[in-house]
Amino acid sequence: MANSRVSLLRHSFSFNSFIRTSAISPSVLSTRRFVVSSSNEPLLVASQSAKQAVITSNESEKPNLTTRWKPMCLYFTQDKCTMMQDTSHLQKFNHSLCLEHELNVDEYVNKHSEHFDFFLVLDLEGKVEILEFPVLMIDARTMNVVAFFHRFVRPSKMSEERVNEYIKGKYGKLGVDRVWHDTALPFDEVIAQFEEWMGIHNLRSKEPDSPLHRAAFVTCGNWDIKTKIPAQCEVSKMKLPSYFMEWINLKDIYLNFYNRRAPGMRTMMNELKIPFLGSHHLGIDDSKNITRVLQRMLVDGAVLKITARRNPLVTGKVEFLFENRIK
Ligand SMILES: [Zn+2]
Repeated sequence: MANSRVSLLRHSFSFNSFIRTSAISPSVLSTRRFVVSSSNEPLLVASQSAKQAVITSNESEKPNLTTRWKPMCLYFTQDKCTMMQDTSHLQKFNHSLCLEHELNVDEYVNKHSEHFDFFLVLDLEGKVEILEFPVLMIDARTMNVVAFFHRFVRPSKMSEERVNEYIKGKYGKLGVDRVWHDTALPFDEVIAQFEEWMGIHNLRSKEPDSPLHRAAFVTCGNWDIKTKIPAQCEVSKMKLPSYFMEWINLKDIYLNFYNRRAPGMRTMMNELKIPFLGSHHLGIDDSKNITRVLQRMLVDGAVLKITARRNPLVTGKVEFLFENRIK
């Protein structure tokens, strides 16, 4: 086992140079062909397949789901899967960010989202420093996931020993600590890649320091953008990017639309009878589940508007735009 871990690590780092220089576009990537290497995944497969079996058996009671659930390939979500031609790998792991959902999207007419063309569902992980940065890009007209950006993030102010403990405690129990170690990048590099990705998808105008262009971040709570992003920017000695000035807190939209208070995503999903898929507190899975809630709210007729905005003149001051809101 020890030997296989070493060879896995060596293999994983050998294609880092490709990763850093490649333009990040999942749509382009899905058609690329990679050299197949069978040394890339045994630990990931072993740890995730057990969980897959459990969730699959639960899902058998829900025949309406159009696609059988399987765990995401977390190399693929970060543009780093080298096994796109390996059929057994493709059978075990999901290589599409399309959502398995029960909604009849024909019911949805784009009358509720004239403000935005795209929603960017963001759900950060990491209490001390950010560990995961997942974003799903949703077309406001069709509600489809049209693109995604996902990176694991390496803390910058922690000893290696502390990082190892931290990751073992958080991602070890989800069986994805190995892929975290293979792929995590410092926050400033993640943000540089994210900006490149936003450029590819025309989410910002050409001017430097521009806000999002006809798109809005959607989060479950205010913590991600109000608190965590500025705190991480400070730790990473970066200026707060200009596109993190405003966002939509889905909890506030939920409260005002359904007239019910939901403290978290699980409550919303329970109340809307949406099955929870994947691992809670794996950011990419939580983002997908938040997206399912968002889709359902759009179908039900909710109008998504900005709920919170930073005051550009007073550092740290955030204005909340809904009187009736979750505090
Ligand atoms: Zn893969």
